Amino acid sequence: MKPVHFNIRSFIYILLAISFLSACSNKEITGKSGPKIIDSLMAKMTIEEKIGQMTLFTSGWDVTGPVLRDTYREDIINGKCGNIFNAHTVAYNTELQRIAVEESRLGIPLLFGYDVIHGYKTIFPVPIGEACSWDTVLIEKSARLAAKEAAAAGLNWTFNPMVDISRDPRWGRVSEGSGEDTYLSIIARLKVRGTQNGDLSDPFTLAACVKHFAAYGAPQAGRDYATVDMSMRVFREIYLPPYIAAIDAGAATVMTSFNELFGVPATASYFLLTEVLRNELNFKGVIVTDYTSINELVPHGVAKDEKEAAELALKAGVDMDMQGAVYYNYLKELVDSGKVDLELINQSVRRVLQLKYDLGLFKDPYLYLDAMREKEVVLSEEMMAHSLEAAQKSIVLLENKVGKTGKLLPLDISKYKKITVLGPLADNKLDILGSWMAAGDQSNSVSLSEGLKRKFPDKNIQSMEGVGFMSEDRSAFPGSLALAKSSDLIILALGEDYTMSGEAASRTELDLPGIQSEFANLILDSGKPVIVIIFAGRPLTISDLSQKADALIYAWQPGTRTGDALADILSGDFNPSAKLAITFPYNVGQIPIYYSMKNTGRPYLEEEKYTSKYLDSPNEPLYPFGYGLGYSDFEYSPIVINKSLISEKDTLIAKVIIKNTGKYAGEEVVQLYIRDMVGSLTRPLKELKGFSKIYLKPGESKEVVFNITVSDLKFLGQDMKYIYEPGDFMLFIGRSSMDTSEAEFRLKNKK
Ligand code: BGC
Repeated sequence: MKPVHFNIRSFIYILLAISFLSACSNKEITGKSGPKIIDSLMAKMTIEEKIGQMTLFTSGWDVTGPVLRDTYREDIINGKCGNIFNAHTVAYNTELQRIAVEESRLGIPLLFGYDVIHGYKTIFPVPIGEACSWDTVLIEKSARLAAKEAAAAGLNWTFNPMVDISRDPRWGRVSEGSGEDTYLSIIARLKVRGTQNGDLSDPFTLAACVKHFAAYGAPQAGRDYATVDMSMRVFREIYLPPYIAAIDAGAATVMTSFNELFGVPATASYFLLTEVLRNELNFKGVIVTDYTSINELVPHGVAKDEKEAAELALKAGVDMDMQGAVYYNYLKELVDSGKVDLELINQSVRRVLQLKYDLGLFKDPYLYLDAMREKEVVLSEEMMAHSLEAAQKSIVLLENKVGKTGKLLPLDISKYKKITVLGPLADNKLDILGSWMAAGDQSNSVSLSEGLKRKFPDKNIQSMEGVGFMSEDRSAFPGSLALAKSSDLIILALGEDYTMSGEAASRTELDLPGIQSEFANLILDSGKPVIVIIFAGRPLTISDLSQKADALIYAWQPGTRTGDALADILSGDFNPSAKLAITFPYNVGQIPIYYSMKNTGRPYLEEEKYTSKYLDSPNEPLYPFGYGLGYSDFEYSPIVINKSLISEKDTLIAKVIIKNTGKYAGEEVVQLYIRDMVGSLTRPLKELKGFSKIYLKPGESKEVVFNITVSDLKFLGQDMKYIYEPGDFMLFIGRSSMDTSEAEFRLKNKK
């Protein structure tokens, strides 16, 4: 039920709505200057009210429930704050919306933003995990359902997707992205589509916010917020495409990043915000800053004070100030003194009002505020079922060694009476949700041990923490070992807690935190079969475990249904199919390491000292991009291509037949890579150009066909325009970036 409120403000509001409706009926909704309601509001607004629409404040929120800080209440009433974030639930947001609509002079509804990154209350896997599913339908559906649940809880805007490419797992925010590769910018598109569903005014969707513009994923030495500096070529060819994909998919808003790029902080960069985003990419929506990033122009050293920072940000193209109150404090003064043109403010306000209009808020400010819907949708069966599927499809099987009696997984459960689960994630219901867990609540989560008990009710399943995430306490080691020795099977659940990845969570060592490795070695030496499951928001350096564990699973942070998903995988009820979307290094010294590196003039040769290599580490990663095991055995036929000489108008057709020669039905991600052998510029050793996820029953075969045209051969030429060049190419198809077969072809000279 929507609340009904009526007073003089509502009356004014109704008048506005009537003028809007009559505009609709006159078919004049969007003229050059936007819908009539926007013109009419613009004509009435004071400069303070305009700046209010360019202001976004976080709401207060304490443990006993939501509390709106008094100043924000006054700011909303005075029209000085037009947008709120971190406020959620229908009850709370209805109250805030009521204040805006009924108690402010013009009754303009509020935007309600929130970081719904991988679920609102039902939590799906962290994005890097979900990217490992390579499942386009699943990824779009996750965004769809997260938006549906959040919109049911009173939100209309999410600060998602984060599309920052990152090749540096020291940076904790790799957990929020889709990995290292530009091709996976298709995920950016899927997420925007899922979130907005092509119709912002549908109350089951949210406005998306693409972030963090731009190149936030490449901070020096992996330290969050640090300087980003790269060539224009790398920026345009590698880092920019995912933002473009998201904008092309219709993303309503874009968030500026904290970092500098090309010597200018993104929030003050006219080049990034106006020349690239507005002019080149034709982005028409709202540009919002990241949290206080206008204020941060002062410590960045490009503004002497916050007033100057406000001027720089506005002139660069920022429409909305998140939390910094810099526009709030200084914009009017800047207009009065003639430093900034009122027209810039008008443009930004129009964009914000247009967004509110597109969201349907002028028609009904309570559109997203339906308590009945909230009850039905939040944590509904649909959400919980999807949380399970998304977790199953995101968990990567890294090792499954052949022992005396074959492979340990899937478990032949009849062999085991007593199963022991050890480690800080054995019974954990919180850290499995990952960073940015939004309103996720551990009371709804299924821990690993709970999942196993549900799956195997007749077994004796014991669990014990044994070791903390970070503590140096070894007092539980002997007890853990004794328990392990008395068991038939041990599952070690190790990794990071949820604060160790995400924002402001950079690390210089990527080993298991604390003394977990020591604990793992103790248990691995017990002589019992051991499955190691790692939970983390980033790749960790786990070469030791990869050698010693009988089976090794990378669970990432799978979300609400963690325990159920893992129990399904261990039991074989679900056959794992995920493949890494980011390279796993052997050691921190290899970073940045990614599959699409260049050959160099002195490529690695073992017997030659003066080649590109380390004295103390292999060049190869521990696990390459695209790698992941399952329980099926997929056999690849040789590649067949329809022609080896193509013209620029041709389509090269490459085919392989994949056969499931194993005992289990399952999915395989078949990957296509290309290398341009000789170019006017150096090209990567391999570039992902396509993939196909197929399902095969035992004994079944399927043909996978890739169509390759010159657009797959393009790169940024010397003059920074996309070109393709005639010459020799290699095409690779396989199960990972390092496990492929190949074929050669040639692109003819232009006539
Ligand atoms: C983060 C953003 C986030 C914002 C709002 C910032 O600290 O960098 O990703 O959307 O906070 O919570």
